[in-house]
Amino acid sequence: MGYAHVSTGDILRKEKEMETELGLTAQKYSKKGLLVPDELLENLVERELTIHLKSQGIILDGYPRTIQQAKTLEFLCKKHGIQIQKVVLLNVEKNELIQRGIERGKTSDREDDKNPEVIKKRIEVYNEETKPVAEFYSLRTILAEVNGEGSMNEITERILKSV
Ligand code: AMP
Repeated sequence: MGYAHVSTGDILRKEKEMETELGLTAQKYSKKGLLVPDELLENLVERELTIHLKSQGIILDGYPRTIQQAKTLEFLCKKHGIQIQKVVLLNVEKNELIQRGIERGKTSDREDDKNPEVIKKRIEVYNEETKPVAEFYSLRTILAEVNGEGSMNEITERILKSV
């Protein structure tokens, strides 16, 4: 569709591979299932937004994950003349998420997929820190809630319909 895909998780994993200071610091949090502090991501997100300013659009994947990040994103969008059109929230039941994490851990080299306790921690952190972000966008009437269970094709169809 000509949209740029920006995944903060993918970028942080690449930074870690390149052994940059950001990558190595981020890894200390990620391997425990914790979020990386908001301020470490600000420059990275601004850099990515500006790189893709001329593309058809940008799909931000995994950002914002806290209210503070949502506020930062609002600020950066204003600064660069970007408008957030939709925020997609994929709803998946907890046991299914744990199962998916364990399955992915068999083939991925992600340290945070290998340990079910870390997967559970990520879900806990999501409930505490990321869930309020949905409310933030719901109040701005741009939240699309999508059922994230089923086959990849079914979920893709639902996302496309919702946006
Ligand atoms: P992901 O691939 O999106 O699951 O991200 C993997 C890990 O990178 C997360 O568990 C966090 O430790 C870190 N991370 C990615 N995106 C963010 C974000 N927006 N805020 C804080 N930490 C993040």
